[in-house]
Amino acid sequence: MKRIAIIGGGVSGLSAAYALQKHVYRAAEIDYVLFEAGPHFGGVIHSERVNDFLIEAGPDSFLTEKPWAAELCRELGLGDQLIASSDAERRTYIFVNGRLVPLPEGLMFMVPTDLAATFLSPLFSWPTKLRMIREWFYRPSLDVPESTVAEFVERHYGREMVERVADPLVVGVYGGGADELSASSVLARFVEIEVRQGSLGRAMVASRKLQSLSAEQGFAGQPRAAVPTRSLFTSLKGGMQTMTDAMLAQIPESARRMNTPVAAVTPESGKWLVASRGRTEEFDAVIIATPAYTAAELLRNDVPQLSSELEAIRYSSSVTVALAYDEKTLASLPAGFGFLVPRTENKRILACTFVHNKFPNRAPSDSALLRCFLGGSRDEEILQSPDAEIVATVRRELEEILGFTTEPSFVKIYKWRKAMAQYGVGHKTRVELVRKAISSMPGLSLAGNAYNGIGIPDCVRSGSEAAAKILVDLAIVQPRAQFAR
Ligand SMILES: Cc1cc2nc3c(=O)[nH]c(=O)nc-3n(C[C@H](O)[C@H](O)[C@H](O)COP(=O)(O)OP(=O)(O)OC[C@H]3O[C@@H](n4cnc5c(N)ncnc54)[C@H](O)[C@@H]3O)c2cc1C
Repeated sequence: MKRIAIIGGGVSGLSAAYALQKHVYRAAEIDYVLFEAGPHFGGVIHSERVNDFLIEAGPDSFLTEKPWAAELCRELGLGDQLIASSDAERRTYIFVNGRLVPLPEGLMFMVPTDLAATFLSPLFSWPTKLRMIREWFYRPSLDVPESTVAEFVERHYGREMVERVADPLVVGVYGGGADELSASSVLARFVEIEVRQGSLGRAMVASRKLQSLSAEQGFAGQPRAAVPTRSLFTSLKGGMQTMTDAMLAQIPESARRMNTPVAAVTPESGKWLVASRGRTEEFDAVIIATPAYTAAELLRNDVPQLSSELEAIRYSSSVTVALAYDEKTLASLPAGFGFLVPRTENKRILACTFVHNKFPNRAPSDSALLRCFLGGSRDEEILQSPDAEIVATVRRELEEILGFTTEPSFVKIYKWRKAMAQYGVGHKTRVELVRKAISSMPGLSLAGNAYNGIGIPDCVRSGSEAAAKILVDLAIVQPRAQFAR
């Protein structure tokens, strides 16, 4: 019997455990243990019912275009629980110069594909509009050094596009600024177009890739013209936690170790020693599905080089604040999924989702449910603020932006410390180094949002791939054999 330790019980670790469990069902000679430091499994995925409202403390959905999470849900018998975002309502506003301006039709992240709509939009000045025309004539650029998202977007559409669109969008997804994140990690397909074709605008229109690219980038700010035939986002009727609960239900109680932080992982004579709560156990293999900085800590003494690469992957923190309002406030709100706030507006709210519009049955029909997102790499201090202060800030800023002064019927606040990996310049190279190091270490695997995508579908995939590597290392399955997730 081969023993496997999985460290970290978020969606990545649960996906790894579930992948192993399927081999246990097929009588594979394996025995695994899932270590979770906290008092519950699921990591940042946490759904809560308050009266007739469904609140998502962390992620509220996943990208429909990336199949791994929806496939997993169907496999877990949750196919009939999957729900689509209400894309007919999809409109995102940018708060600029004190008012909410809708993103123009046809804007694909920052690439205008409907020039008429973009030219009529008050979101951009004439110099930016003229740059959009100039961009149409860009030639392929073969020797461009790795850029930040800001440098990349500025090269094509100028500074205003960075400030009003690109930066608020990436902050809303990653919690990190356009001047910090790597274009080749965050906007991979656009970077590829720049190299091969030059103009993003020309390529996007000509190649008719609008639908797939909008979904792939996954930014909340895609306007209605870009609505694909299926919805951009998918969630679950009972909330995102339905998915992690369903995975957990497959894992025997005896394999679950809650409130058990692992303190060290040590390779020794072909085995792996895992220390937790004063006890050391021997395993044949280990899957580390914690944030990268914790993986770095666990491996620091014995695998220092890998540890220092992992340590270099930065994380940002965030706060979500959900507020419920009455019918009168609901009537006063604009249509759409919500708004983003550029840095230049000097607010602490980075983004706000009109939850009642985004998914059905999240709030009673006579109520509004708003969810604000704060923090990110530029405002880590907010994590230290008392809840009452954060709520007062959110209420004041909502009043300034949306113009209502109503008391919310309730407020819920959630703090996520160092939960979102930041893909800075050099991230791809670093992940490749990590992958190479791991491939030469039999019995060690990594999973999580630090490597090849921070979204839930990517985390699900990373967990099942980490399990697949271990099963090959332990000769439970053959290399290259199709791994059934
Ligand atoms: C506020 C917020 C909103 C988001 N919104 C979306 C969204 O709408 N759509 C989307 O696709 N993605 C979204 N994301 C990203 C996505 O949710 C995460 O990337 C993903 O859930 C991370 O899962 P994980 O298992 O890799 O990590 P985590 O969820 O962080 O889980 C890691 C687990 O490891 C445990 N752990 C840590 N150290 C130890 C130790 N020493 N021993 C044992 N256990 C340990 C932790 O307690 C934790 O449970 C959002 C993230 C946040 C924070």
